[in-house]
Amino acid sequence: MIEVLLRPLLEYGYEVTILPKYQQHQIEQQMMKAGRAITGLPWNGMGVAVRGELGWRTMEERSEVAKMKYFQHLRTLPQTRLIKRIFDIRMDDANKQWNAQRVKRSWCHVMRKIMDKYGIAEEWKKEKDERNNVTVNRWWNGNGEEKGVKEKVEKKQEEEWKKEVKEKTKGQYYMKCKKEWGEEEYLNEEGDRKGRVWKARMRASAAPLAAILKSEHGRGKKSSRCMVCGEINEDQKHMLLVCDGYTQERETMMAEIAAVVDPVEWKRLQTSDDLDAWLLSSKEVDTIVKHFLNQAWTIRNFHIPKEP
Ligand SMILES: [Zn+2]
Repeated sequence: MIEVLLRPLLEYGYEVTILPKYQQHQIEQQMMKAGRAITGLPWNGMGVAVRGELGWRTMEERSEVAKMKYFQHLRTLPQTRLIKRIFDIRMDDANKQWNAQRVKRSWCHVMRKIMDKYGIAEEWKKEKDERNNVTVNRWWNGNGEEKGVKEKVEKKQEEEWKKEVKEKTKGQYYMKCKKEWGEEEYLNEEGDRKGRVWKARMRASAAPLAAILKSEHGRGKKSSRCMVCGEINEDQKHMLLVCDGYTQERETMMAEIAAVVDPVEWKRLQTSDDLDAWLLSSKEVDTIVKHFLNQAWTIRNFHIPKEP
């Protein structure tokens, strides 16, 4: 809902304007604020995870897409249109500048950079040909046989997103939980609401578990000891699979899972090293895990009332 309201407002005029970096940054911040409100990830949770959970592109990427589509729109306008003739003249100028290596700041050169970034530099030309003389939609999406520009662009955007995740300390765990790019289905209204937020926070390692807090505060400054059971290294796995504090709730969760998951698969999963990440990512057991998380965090917060 927030996205529906915000996006047209923020992207209005994006086709032609070149926003200064600080302004783009400000818009990105507003978008992230909305994203945090939807996912429940706190202010210090990874921004790249907020975008990942929602399947949102950055504002910069959205603006680049709007510009590329507008470029195609201009290219295919009839020659009788004034704006098309201006486009042609500007592109001729830009071409000359480029060949003479005397590039002046202009919309046309911004377009060249964008298309180059996405590996479609061959698209930077004013001429219509058999392939590009189609509607914006067709050019972007392609048709059954021929692939559109979209495919290359989105592939590149995904690569960039993955690279950004991998640069984060908490990125490795997040990637174990995040199987593919796109909006996560668990963000729907099914199941426990509080459990949903805890699920997002556990996936992004943005929950106040002792081992996570210790990794944030550096060595020696905090203990990774679980204040519920006293064992060291209280992380996601500890809460989901090990801690004595939630034994009864866990038994209920496991019994419910066993009733819905294929028995052979469940047997394999139980010995898997990544069972915790599976619990935080499987669609099949989504509501069961949300319920457990709500219960476990209620118990935990009762033990440790002062933690955030
Ligand atoms: Zn414990």
